[in-house]
Amino acid sequence: MSAAELHRAELRVAAVASGLLMLLDEHGITGQLPQDARNAAGQLRHTVKLAVQAAQPPTLATPPSLDGGDALRSWIRSQPWAQPDPGPAGFVYLLCFRDPLTGEHRPLRGNGCRGQYAGHYWGWTEDLVRRIVREHRNPRWAGPGRLVQVALAAGLTFELAYVEYPATRSRERRIKNQGSAYRRCPLCRGTAGPLDPFQVAAAASDPAPAYPSAVAEHRPDPQGALS
Ligand SMILES: [Zn+2]
Repeated sequence: MSAAELHRAELRVAAVASGLLMLLDEHGITGQLPQDARNAAGQLRHTVKLAVQAAQPPTLATPPSLDGGDALRSWIRSQPWAQPDPGPAGFVYLLCFRDPLTGEHRPLRGNGCRGQYAGHYWGWTEDLVRRIVREHRNPRWAGPGRLVQVALAAGLTFELAYVEYPATRSRERRIKNQGSAYRRCPLCRGTAGPLDPFQVAAAASDPAPAYPSAVAEHRPDPQGALS
């Protein structure tokens, strides 16, 4: 196989893989996948993006030769998911506000005349454990993410409901712009239980695309999860 053929084959794999990722997103399936599969989907998303960005656009000096590879490349570049996504990769996460007594979803209702209403909080971080455990869970935290402290002060608690990794801040903005966190929340949809930030971070830092079995075996009993 020549280098050009190999490159075309790689681009085709990238196109098929990204088509699959788009369908998973469109059908809202990504949020229902088990954490290990969701991490693998995130890594695939990231890898496809890098592959597309690595394909240099033809320079003006070179007349464009529209063979199959070039056509495919320009098609991929025009897709919304392939747009350059600068910035470091981290965790996009979703917090779901819950009633500490019943464990049910309970949105935060503001006191203002506009009646602000927040059932969820979207965030992005490079350090998931520090962000969730040291900042969001800390009632005296005064940094970014005040909404969570307001919810805690109002007697609510929260669960880590959804995580994407690796993901940039732009990915967080795109998800937010799609609206309705409720639709994306596996806890509110009843499709999955709360996540443990320590486990998610440990799985994400493992270079293997799939969960090592040792991590899966040490999952705590769901009954012991935060309430
Ligand atoms: Zn929720």
